[in-house]
Formats: sequence, structure tokens, C-alpha cells
Amino acid sequence: MRKHVLILSLQLGLAAIILHQTRELILVYYLLAPVLLIPAFYFYKERSRGMLLAALLVVVSVNARYFFLNPMPRLFLFWAGQAVFFALSCAYFRELRTALDYASSKRNQVRKNLENLRAKFQTRISSLKHLEVQVGSLMNLFEIARDFSECMDFATLSDFLLKKLRSELSFQRMRIFILPLTPASKEKGGVKLYEMTLGGVQEIERELSDEEKTDFDSMALTKNMVRREKMWFFPILEAEKLTAVFSIDGVQDEDLARVEVLSAYLVLLIKKIQLYETVRELAIIDELTQVFVRHHFVERLEEEVRRSIRFKLPLTVLMLDIDHFKRYNDEFGHLVGDATLKEVADLLKKNLRRVDLVGRYGGEEFVVAMPETRMENACEVAERIRSNTARHDFRVYNDRTKVTVSQGLRVFDAASIREPEKVDVPKLVSELIHHADESMYRAKEEGRNRVCVYKEPHNLL
Ligand code: GH3
Ligand code: MG
Ligand code: MG
Repeated sequence: MRKHVLILSLQLGLAAIILHQTRELILVYYLLAPVLLIPAFYFYKERSRGMLLAALLVVVSVNARYFFLNPMPRLFLFWAGQAVFFALSCAYFRELRTALDYASSKRNQVRKNLENLRAKFQTRISSLKHLEVQVGSLMNLFEIARDFSECMDFATLSDFLLKKLRSELSFQRMRIFILPLTPASKEKGGVKLYEMTLGGVQEIERELSDEEKTDFDSMALTKNMVRREKMWFFPILEAEKLTAVFSIDGVQDEDLARVEVLSAYLVLLIKKIQLYETVRELAIIDELTQVFVRHHFVERLEEEVRRSIRFKLPLTVLMLDIDHFKRYNDEFGHLVGDATLKEVADLLKKNLRRVDLVGRYGGEEFVVAMPETRMENACEVAERIRSNTARHDFRVYNDRTKVTVSQGLRVFDAASIREPEKVDVPKLVSELIHHADESMYRAKEEGRNRVCVYKEPHNLL
């Protein structure tokens, strides 16, 4: 509307000039009028433009003719022509405006779409970059995880984990909880724990806290990981039973996806190591009595003898045999005999230190190695074993019975060895065992339920 008023006032202004000015000025206006309308033509559709051009030509020619005849009708005709132009202009401007509005709304829509697309594109690019970083670090983890498979025991695995992951992840602590699985580990009670902090790896044996017990029970039930504040626990299950737990503390949220990938791999590896350890344990531990089998005991005794020789420390070998066990078996049966054998082994372990080695040497014969133990102490220990066994009430179904044991001791005085490097350790070990066995048979001969010490001063070298 404003545009229309402007054009109208322009026309009126020009008409006023024409009325009061000279002919020359009017002439100038006549020549300029079509020129002024040229921009209007430019925007209009073909058909309309033709009509406008025709109207313009008619007006110009009529005006030109009347201009030379009579100035007054010319002026009238000029006004009429202007009115036609004005009307046509208004119509075209309206059309133009609608077209322009439509075009600008279209343009705005396109611009908006373009902006949306650009924003989406930016998001895609940044998520792609993020993915690229994640893929890179996952590849690193994958490489590390591949090297893990070399680890065959938990101590090596813990060292390796700490060394390799320090630079890959930010964490405060990682832990591997090994729950008791084999009879030997169950007997010890508690859990074995490998704790990895920036300070290093620690091997701990302890009871679970109440919080840990709750979390572990929930993992055993749901078979899913558990989160407690900044601590994440990943369960390791074997035949539906929780056997170990991997936990990591103080992980950033953005690292969580990587921790899950890592834990999936670790779970498999921990299972594998546990299997190895079980097999290893089963191969060295006697199933019934839970002491070392003979060949492993001998290997460990050889190590102890080497240590004794190196540090000139005494060591005692003790051989123990249950008295009249054949009769015992005949009287109560083999099942009771087995239970009694286990009880004797338990009594034996209870009367020894953790550093002492216990092995099942034969059917109902046990062998013990007591490092850093001289004659007096060894005799005291053997006597304690003898009296505690003799006092003990062994269970026979609903009844109780007594059992006695005979023992032989062989004390090894490493300080008396003059040329340690020349010692044939395996030979020495079999001699020590043999001497202890001889003494034990002497105890049998002397009436059983007693301790005999190997006395003859043999020079073993
Ligand atoms: P001694 O006092 O002279 O030692 O008499 P003993 O009857 O104990 O004689 P010996 O040591 O030679 O006998 C070994 C017996 O131990 C034979 C076997 O019946 C029994 N025995 C060996 N191993 C086992 C076992 O694993 N379980 C059971 N129940 N009995 C065993
Ligand atoms: Mg016997
Ligand atoms: Mg025997």
C-alpha cells in the first residue's frame, strides 16, 4: 500500500511540474516516463509484459500526437495514460509481491533445510571423529588383550595388566578376586585377591567384606556386572557358579565402554588361568588328604635342601605311619579308613607351621619337611603330633575310636657340609627320606606310638 501511495504522489508531483513548467520539461518527462517503467517490465511475466508494452505504446503515440496539436487535451490524455500505467503497475506490483513473497518463503525454507543439513553433517562428522578415536583405542586394547593370553598365572597377569593399562585407561585400582574352588583353596577359606594400584601388585588372602558379599551374591544370581559408586565388578562364572570377580575403581564414564570390552576378554582369560591352576593343583595335591603328592613333595624338598645348604640352615624330615591300619580297615571298612586318614592329615597340618611341607608318601604314610628345624624342636613337634593323635577321638559312624602313629626323624645339619657345590641334592633327599623311614620302622619295632630319631652320624658326602 505504501508503495502505491508513493507512486501516486510521484505521478501527482510530476503532473504539477508539467502544468507549471515549460514544454521542454514536459518533453523530458515524456521521454523519461517509459524509462522509469522499465524496471516494472523486468519483473513481470511474458504475457503481462506484452500488454503493458502495448498500452505504453498507445499512450506514447497518442500523447505525442496531441502534444503537437493542443497542449490541454495532451495533458488530459497524458493523465489518462498515467492512470492506466498506474493501474497496471499496481496490478503487476501485487503479482510481483506475491511472487516475491512466495520466492522468499521458499528461499527461507531452503535456507532452513540447508542449516539443518549442515548441523546434521557437523554432528555426523564429530561423532565419526569420536568413533575414530574409540576404534583406535579399542584396537590398542585388542592388541594388549592379545598379549594377555601369554599369561598363565594370576601374578603374571596382574603385573602385565598394570603395566599395559596404565597408559591406556585412567583408574585407581583393579582387583581380581579368586573365590575358593578346589578343596585345597576351600580349606584355606577366604578369597585370594590380586590388587593392582599405581604402587604395584599385591597378593592378599582375606575374608570378603559384608558389602562385597552382597555384591558377589547379586552377581551370582543375576550373572551381570554390578556397580557400587565408582567401582565396577564383573563376574566370572563357571557352570553357573561365581568363581572369580574382576573389579576396577575410579574409571571415567567415557572409558566405560572400553572397560567392558576389556573385561569381556579378561573374564575368558581368568577362567582359563583358573582352569590351569585347578589342573596344576589337582596334579600336586592328594585328593583325599589335601597334602602334596609324593613326587611334588620330593621336588619341593629338593628346593628346601638347596636353600638349607646355601644358608647353612638345619632341616628335619619326618616320616609318619599309622599303626595297625590294616586291622583298622578290616574292622571298620575302607570308607571309615579313608575318613581317618583325612583326619590324621588334618591333625598333622594343625601341629605344623605354614612353612612346613607335608606329603602323602604311601597308602597311610606321610612325610614332612621342617625347614630351619633342629633336633630338639623336631622332637618336640613329633611328640606333639604323637600325643595329639593318640588323644584324638576318631569318628566311626556314631562311635569314636583311637588311632596311634609311629614316627621317624632325620635331622639334616647343612652347616657340616664342607663342599656345598658338590652335593648331589636328589640323592641326598632320597637318603634323608630313607633314613627317616628307617627310624620310623624302628619306632614300629620298639612298640609303635612313638618317635625314633635317626642317630648314626653319617657323613653324607
Ligand atoms: P603297621 O603298624 O605296621 O604300620 O601296621 P599296618 O597295618 O598299618 O601296616 P601297613 O602300614 O603295612 O599297612 C598299610 C595299610 O593301610 C594297608 C591298607 O589297608 C591301608 N591303606 C593304605 N592306603 C589306604 C587308603 O588310602 N585308604 C584306606 N582306607 N586304607 C589304606
Ligand atoms: Mg601302618
Ligand atoms: Mg604303612
